Amino acid sequence: MSRLVLLYGGTFDPVHRGHLAVARAALAATGAAWLDFLPAADPPHRAPPGAPFAERLALLELALAAEPPPEHGGWGVDGREGGRAGPSFTVDTLRDWRRGHGAEAPLGFVLGADAFLGLAGWREWQALPDLTHFIVARRPGSPLEPLPPPLAEAFAGRRVDHPARLHAAPAGGLFLLDLPLRPESATRARAALGEGDAAPADLPPVVAEAIARRGLYRRPAGG
Ligand code: ATP
Repeated sequence: MSRLVLLYGGTFDPVHRGHLAVARAALAATGAAWLDFLPAADPPHRAPPGAPFAERLALLELALAAEPPPEHGGWGVDGREGGRAGPSFTVDTLRDWRRGHGAEAPLGFVLGADAFLGLAGWREWQALPDLTHFIVARRPGSPLEPLPPPLAEAFAGRRVDHPARLHAAPAGGLFLLDLPLRPESATRARAALGEGDAAPADLPPVVAEAIARRGLYRRPAGG
């Protein structure tokens, strides 16, 4: 039996309702057995996160513990990028995952359209489709049609409309998630927290409470 596993990469700085909705939709649409959120310790493509890795990981775990379980499959947090020194390159993480699970295990990497559109800037990005399927969530402001030339070329003929094909091969497919657009963003949540809003609408209450308790994402004094 196939055990399609999904890894949902991101900074999760902090985890918000949009992330949880994307994860649920990814599990339901692909029929995957499991999804692990994969927080980046040191994301190479962006400014340093507003909270340390251990705090972002703890907020993810709190959020999942407070949520009703997904309707399909299960979910958890994979903290492996926290154990590596230096930037968290996805290609290294996926190779590490393959060392543990073998070359034949079906794997899907979940990401939003904005991140997917930047894929050609990732380290060894052309090696990635040999390591994983891509499961992409549409996002406001990041149209996927038409794909920019390097991606259109790299993903030509890879588009998968039926999830059975994700289970039948270890890697190589591109599957677009069909979920209503989610407006939440971590930038927006951090801005609200910085303005003194203790419970931004983008955040699950348990996450907002933990942020307040731990004093995270406060505007720096004088800033
Ligand atoms: P920031 O605002 O700081 O850029 P973010 O909200 O995009 O943060 P990330 O941790 O960077 O949060 O997101 C992890 C992954 O989830 C990325 O691939 C991102 O594209 C995707 N994602 C985040 N929010 C949404 C959303 N509202 N809809 C679809 N995808 C999303």
